[in-house]
Amino acid sequence: MNDKIITCALCGSKMKEWESNNPQPLLEDFNDRVCRDCNDYVTATRFILRGADVETTRHICDVIANVMRMASGLKRGRESWMMNKLEEEE
Ligand SMILES: [Zn+2]
Repeated sequence: MNDKIITCALCGSKMKEWESNNPQPLLEDFNDRVCRDCNDYVTATRFILRGADVETTRHICDVIANVMRMASGLKRGRESWMMNKLEEEE
């Protein structure tokens, strides 16, 4: 872990590698890292799925990860639309 800048595997935000978190079980790939905000969802998922079987865990984690990725894309689109609108009004 060092000062290398990496991208959150869920929301796409940039962060230093040392401040990133382990996304299991939400994401399966052990190379993936997530930011502090997304890590709260990882932690919540761990609590809620405690005791669930492997198949249920995988299915629900895939759904949550897809919702987070799509919602992050929608948020970025909305924010850049707002920025353009503000610039036009100036
Ligand atoms: Zn994130």
